[in-house]
Amino acid sequence: MDSKVIRDEFFDQYVEFYNGGPVPEYASNDFSYYLECHRKRLDQKGIRAVKKIEKIEDNIDNTFNKEKQPYILDMTYKECNFETDYYKDDVMLAKSDNDTETLYCNILHKQDYQEETISCPNCGHSAGARSFVNGCPMCGTTFKTFKFFPCVTSFYTLPKFVERSSIDKGLKGVVKFGIIAGIAVAIGVGLYNGIANQSWGAGIFFGIIAGLLTGWLGTIFLYLGYSLFVGVTAFSKMFAQAADTSDIQAARFTKRKFENDMRMYFPDFSYEYFEGKIVSLLRSIIFSDDRSNLSIYKGKDQLGYLNDVVDVEYRGGFKYEGCTVVGDILHVRLINYVSCEVWCDGKLSKHQRNFKMELIRRLKTNDDLGFSIHAVNCSTCGATFDAMHVDKCPHCGNPYELINDDWVVIFVQ
Ligand SMILES: [Zn+2]
Ligand SMILES: [Zn+2]
Repeated sequence: MDSKVIRDEFFDQYVEFYNGGPVPEYASNDFSYYLECHRKRLDQKGIRAVKKIEKIEDNIDNTFNKEKQPYILDMTYKECNFETDYYKDDVMLAKSDNDTETLYCNILHKQDYQEETISCPNCGHSAGARSFVNGCPMCGTTFKTFKFFPCVTSFYTLPKFVERSSIDKGLKGVVKFGIIAGIAVAIGVGLYNGIANQSWGAGIFFGIIAGLLTGWLGTIFLYLGYSLFVGVTAFSKMFAQAADTSDIQAARFTKRKFENDMRMYFPDFSYEYFEGKIVSLLRSIIFSDDRSNLSIYKGKDQLGYLNDVVDVEYRGGFKYEGCTVVGDILHVRLINYVSCEVWCDGKLSKHQRNFKMELIRRLKTNDDLGFSIHAVNCSTCGATFDAMHVDKCPHCGNPYELINDDWVVIFVQ
């Protein structure tokens, strides 16, 4: 199935999810876990987040892919208006800006994948894996110990500088106004000549000439005026945004160095995949209720201050601060630039937060794009289990360490 079709369906269902709908059908089980955690956090605070994704005409819409047998990772991106409005008791607390964003959606395909049949651990109902994404369709038991493909593994937005669609709309308005003014003047001049001078021939002739002149000159002058206006506002907007995002622009300069460093250890390292990963990791840590036994977070600090965060948006960059190898474990330090909506003392406020993060991973391991923390295969007994909150196989007791398979966060500040 085409990734763009999956993405668009996913976007529709994502918007519906925040209106109280089910988890999007194509959300990977890791992603659906995050969505449920986020919904729980919003419910705890009594806040409703309404997400809107408005399409833009003639927008950028593209896909690039990365193949790593047996997987194909499609990274699709698209320009849209992504908005979130926040409500408490039906009173609007905040409305997001009207700016254009680029939406990134990573979709993972597995070649020759046959949908796995899953059995509910509670009632024994068995069906295709995807039908369990919202819990067992028969008894409602939720569990995430399965995978399916294709699935949406991550989704985030990047801010866009100047809103193109409004300029296009404005230009159409200018041309329309010119045409209407031309027609109005043509009718006026025609009628005046026809009635006052009793000469309808001259009326039609001068009417057409006057109408054309007005339409033509009017459009030109309006166009010049409008361009000047757009130029000035776009410039000031760009200036404001440039100042606002200068930290991120600077951070993105570390991309090349980061890629080069990582490829020494992981030859087919993908920056974009990693970017989706750190955004998901941070979100999952923020929206977890209990961070004391999380497999993805092994820091000392329990990060209680994150319990007031009700939404997180990636600001479009992270800064690589270096890496070190201790034994056979790679440590990566970075700063992740996000903005958080915080609900505190009955007030919602937006903060730009630069989270210092340190991530570790065992070196000899291979990047498995299809890896899921919720569906880990035990190397001893072969059972599949959810490793989000446990450090050993629940069936045979064999210890399990996430750093053998994926990144683990050991520090957040
Ligand atoms: Zn069931
Ligand atoms: Zn086991």
